[in-house]
Amino acid sequence: MSSNTLREALRELVYANHILHYHDAVDAYGHVSIRHPEKPDVYIMSGYLAPALVESPDDLIEYYIHDSSPVNPDSKKGYQERFIHGEVFKRYPEINCVVHSHAEQVLPYTMNGVALRPAFHMAGFLGQHVPIYDITKFYQDGDQQDMLVNTVKFGSELANLFTETNNSLSPNNKSPDHTVVLMKRHGFTTLGKNVPEAVYRALYTKTNAGVQTNAVMLHKAYFGSQAAFDQQDLPYLNGIESEGCRKMNEGTQDKPWKLWVREVEASSLYKNLT
Ligand SMILES: [Zn+2]
Repeated sequence: MSSNTLREALRELVYANHILHYHDAVDAYGHVSIRHPEKPDVYIMSGYLAPALVESPDDLIEYYIHDSSPVNPDSKKGYQERFIHGEVFKRYPEINCVVHSHAEQVLPYTMNGVALRPAFHMAGFLGQHVPIYDITKFYQDGDQQDMLVNTVKFGSELANLFTETNNSLSPNNKSPDHTVVLMKRHGFTTLGKNVPEAVYRALYTKTNAGVQTNAVMLHKAYFGSQAAFDQQDLPYLNGIESEGCRKMNEGTQDKPWKLWVREVEASSLYKNLT
């Protein structure tokens, strides 16, 4: 690992680990990865380490995208759920960063039938439908049913959900239709063409979930039992608005990134030695 391009990419990856922790999108669990900037069939992520403690290139592991096996067979222990990352990179060549989070604000929307919707303009990227992945559909007798996406099969089924089923992913269309997939009783995965975009989406998915929960509870508290409550009553962003806001989000996400880097640089918990 030597070139300036690679060094810059690793530095950004270490920052992403710290930023996601600083903003409570990950705790000791959860992870972020990047596609190798010079070897598109390889991705890079932290070894088995809490994101806040990732510091140097020694903490990172390269994996082949085709099966998520380590490039160096003697690599230290890695994350069981690296298959999330490998399979998303495999299916979407334009995607260069993947984030997986168990953020507690988001968890209720993975399991109770209330759809996660874009509640404010910073989360237009959520679009009008956020798919939910249910790993239990893919379990076979004898599997340890721990919800972990720890095989190519589980990862590829998750990656599929970023695309509408009627989108066959022709060679001319390899863009995901969705930016976020919720994971039932587990968390969510998001992606981006670059690190700031994926981190932005992770943080604002979490923020949006908190805003939506407050909006729903306030509505229920104020209107009480008269509410034959329909979540459609709330004025979430419509399709035109969410699309407009998505473009705005993508055009402005470099601004928070600079702030987020400074925040983690200013905290003595985090070290970036790349
Ligand atoms: Zn997980």
